[in-house]
Amino acid sequence: MRLGRCYKPGHHPYVASMLSALTATEMAFLQIAVLQAVAALLWGLGAWLAQAERVALAHWSVYAGLSAVTWMLLSLHFRSPPLLVVLIGVCSVIALRRGIRLYIGRPLGWATPALMLALVLAGGALAQEANWRPLQAVINFGVLAALYLATAFDLRRHALEDLHWRFPLALSLPLLLGGVAFGSRALRAALAPESVATEMNMHSALNVGSALAYIVLVLLMHATLMALVVTRLLGRLQQLARRDALTGLLNRRAMHAALDQHARQRRRAADTFSVLMIDVDHFKDVNDRHGHEAGDHALMHISRLMAQALRTQDRLARFGGEEFLVLLPASNLARALAEAESLRLQVRSQPLELGELSVPLSVSIGVAEWAGSSEDLSRLLARADDALYRAKRLGRDRVEAALQGAAEPLPQPG
Ligand code: GH3
Ligand code: MG
Ligand code: MG
Repeated sequence: MRLGRCYKPGHHPYVASMLSALTATEMAFLQIAVLQAVAALLWGLGAWLAQAERVALAHWSVYAGLSAVTWMLLSLHFRSPPLLVVLIGVCSVIALRRGIRLYIGRPLGWATPALMLALVLAGGALAQEANWRPLQAVINFGVLAALYLATAFDLRRHALEDLHWRFPLALSLPLLLGGVAFGSRALRAALAPESVATEMNMHSALNVGSALAYIVLVLLMHATLMALVVTRLLGRLQQLARRDALTGLLNRRAMHAALDQHARQRRRAADTFSVLMIDVDHFKDVNDRHGHEAGDHALMHISRLMAQALRTQDRLARFGGEEFLVLLPASNLARALAEAESLRLQVRSQPLELGELSVPLSVSIGVAEWAGSSEDLSRLLARADDALYRAKRLGRDRVEAALQGAAEPLPQPG
C-alpha cells in the first residue's frame, strides 16, 4: 500500500511530507516566491535579448528575483521577519520603480530610495522595543504604499501624455491597488496597533487571503510591464509601416490613408483641401555628379526645409524616389499656390552644403484643389501630376496649377 503510494508518478514522498507540514499561509507565500522566481528568469531572458531597453528589463528581473527571495524568507520567518527581509522586499519594489521610470524615459536619482531605506532601518531600530512594533509596521507598509502609489502616478502620466490612452487608469491600476492595499495596512497598524500582533499569527485568514490577493496583484503587475513592452513594440511597428526610412516623413501608404480619411471628413464638413505634387529637378544629375550618398543628403535636406515651412496641420510625405506630396487641409487653390511658391523659394534659396561644396537644388510643383465629393482621390492626384509635368515642360523650378478638366487617374498602390 505504502509502496503503491510512493510510486505514483509525480508524487515524491519527501516533497509530499514537506508540503503537508506547511501551513496554508506558508504554502501561499511559497507559491508567490515560485511565481516571482519564474518571472525573474523570464525578464532576465528578455533583458538579454532586448537592446534598447535592456537596463529597464534587467531591473524588472531584479524586482521579481528579490521579491521571490522576500516571500521565501517570509514563509520561514513570518512571525518576526528579520529586518533584512523587509529591506530586501523594499529593494525589490525600488527596482520595479526604477525599471519603470527608466523604461518610460524618466530616470530617477538615488535620494528617494535612500530615504525609504533609511526609514525602514530606523523602524527596525525602533522595533527592538516590542512597544514600537506597530510603528515599524506603519513605516514598512507606508514606504511600500508610497513606492507603489508614486509609480502608479508615473504610469498614469505616461499613458496620458506619451501613449495618449483614452483610459490611462488601465495602465496604473495594479500599482494603484498595491498602493491602496499597503496603505490600508499601514493605516490599520496606526489606528489599531493591537491588530499588528494578530496579523503576525501564521494561521490568520487575513494572511492567506492577502497572499492569494497578492498572487493576483503580482500577475497584474507583470501584465502591466508586458503592456508597456507590447505597446512600445506596436508603436515601433506602426512607425516602420508609416514612415519613410531615409527622411522620416510619412510614406506613400500612410499618405494615401491620410488623404482618404481627410476626404471622408471633408465630405461631411463640406470644406475644401488641396494637394501639392513636388518633384526635385534634375536629381539624377545630383547623384551622377556628387554620388548617391550626396543625393540622399539632398533628399533629407529638402524634407527638412519643407517640413519647417509647412503648418502643423499640413501633412508631408515622400511619395516616391525624389517625389513628395503635401496635403493642405482647409486650403483652396489660391492659398495652396501661395504655399507651393513659398516651398519652392525655400528650396531654391538654401542649397545643400557638402563641406566646401554648395549644391543648388530646385523643385517643380503641381497644385490641385479637391473638386468636391464628385472627385475621387486618384483623379485629384492625377491632376496634380499633370500640373507637375507642365511645370517640368515649362522649364522646371516653378509652380503650376491643375486644370479642373479630366485627367487619367494614377494607378493606386498594392
Ligand atoms: P526631372 O527634373 O525631370 O525630374 O529629372 P530627374 O533627374 O530628377 O528625374 P529622373 O526621374 O530622371 O531621376 C530621378 C532620380 O532620382 C533617379 C534615381 O536614381 C534618383 N533617386 C530615387 N530615389 C533615390 C534615393 O532614395 N536616393 C538617391 N540618392 N537617389 C534617388
Ligand atoms: Mg526629378
Ligand atoms: Mg521623379
